[in-house]
Amino acid sequence: MVREASTSTTNRMQGNRSTTEALTFNVAGLLAEPAGSVRQLSVSGPALDLEPDVVQICEVEGELRLTRTNRGLLLHGRLRTAIEQTCSRCLREIEWPVELDLDEEVLPTIDLLNGLPLDTAAEPDVLRLTDHHELDLEPAVRDAILLAEPIAPLCREDCPGLCVTCGRELATGPHDHPGDEMDPRLEALRRFTDDSAPE
Ligand SMILES: [Zn+2]
Ligand SMILES: [Zn+2]
Repeated sequence: MVREASTSTTNRMQGNRSTTEALTFNVAGLLAEPAGSVRQLSVSGPALDLEPDVVQICEVEGELRLTRTNRGLLLHGRLRTAIEQTCSRCLREIEWPVELDLDEEVLPTIDLLNGLPLDTAAEPDVLRLTDHHELDLEPAVRDAILLAEPIAPLCREDCPGLCVTCGRELATGPHDHPGDEMDPRLEALRRFTDDSAPE
């Protein structure tokens, strides 16, 4: 058991951090500073497990700016990642870049002066620090990625899509169908009729 614990510590030092670790920031130091104090933080975290809704295919990266206010913190963040999508015309798998803008007020859950729990029910929708003065961004990042999912993604703006007759990708090059454009299921029937017709 001890051996396993030390292995996981090594992994963490090599950068294989969990998403929660990568997106959690201890802000106790900033909270102890006067209003107006600012911290700039870099974010670099592994992909979140968002399945079955969407697959995130690269890390979350970007910058956060935290500003101390009288009530708590103002969070301004600009993060980038990419999700896997399917082109709505040609059905090709595509990498969809996502920009996440986070602008939130973050409030503590315990009173900084006396350590007593604050009444969080009064503002149920606001982002809260943990009772260890940590900012856990994972839920906010998760929501922002899911919101960024496009309704009808395209591999490129002018994707020509699929041939309505044979289903082949039109982007792979021109091709034509001899004679009438027919449903391929009827093609065999037509050939049969042609062959049996008198010469
Ligand atoms: Zn396409
Ligand atoms: Zn075709």
